[in-house]
Amino acid sequence: MKIDIITIFPKIFDSYFSESLIRKAVEKGIVGINIHDLRKWTENKRRTVDDKPFGGGFGMVMKIEPIFKAVKDLKRKESKVILFTPRGKKYDQKTATKFSKLDHLIMICGRYEGVDERVAKKIADIELSIGDYVLMGGEIPAMVVAESVLRLVPGVLGKQKMIKERTTKSKGFIECAQYTRPEVFEMGKEKWMVPKVLLSGDHKKIEEWRKKHCKIIAG
Ligand code: SAM
Repeated sequence: MKIDIITIFPKIFDSYFSESLIRKAVEKGIVGINIHDLRKWTENKRRTVDDKPFGGGFGMVMKIEPIFKAVKDLKRKESKVILFTPRGKKYDQKTATKFSKLDHLIMICGRYEGVDERVAKKIADIELSIGDYVLMGGEIPAMVVAESVLRLVPGVLGKQKMIKERTTKSKGFIECAQYTRPEVFEMGKEKWMVPKVLLSGDHKKIEEWRKKHCKIIAG
């Protein structure tokens, strides 16, 4: 799995991808993540990536030319090109699972008042939204998609068995209520307890309890 992210703020990703299991997966060569400064594909002195909207209106719009050149350079036959926009298809676990089986994702992070519509129409394969709210840029959506996809790529979490155990054959992922030590957490006069059944060692009862306190996330 290789991910190429096109952004005008490449430094935003520095600490994010250089920490935790994602860094390890990159070091092991399981995944490749490349962050590209869109301005690399500009030709004018000021490295302009935006311009005023035709027809008037508020703010600036990202230009098509540098994005076209960037995607042209990075794209391969098997690539999926994602454009982040709050108008896009709502991202979910099902899409993450589909993406995790692909070889190459190219992500385009918008900024300003959005991206020239021809990018959505002619260059991107899919427009994605991470929720019904408007962010200032596509960088956080790119991190959301990258992390949710990469944790499904075999070898990234190290415990593929765990993902399998948490996956129902047809429905998706099981997310459960979890507890750890201490068994009793004292909050002033109150005692916040771990449910007794989890300490009982009775696997059948624990399984039944888990069924009640789990949610299946379609995937
Ligand atoms: N009206 C603009 C549009 O429809 O794209 C809003 C632009 S927003 C201020 C700037 C950029 O942030 C967008 O181009 C997009 O890349 C990203 N963005 C904002 N909210 C998002 C969301 N909920 N999901 C995905 N991307 C989002």
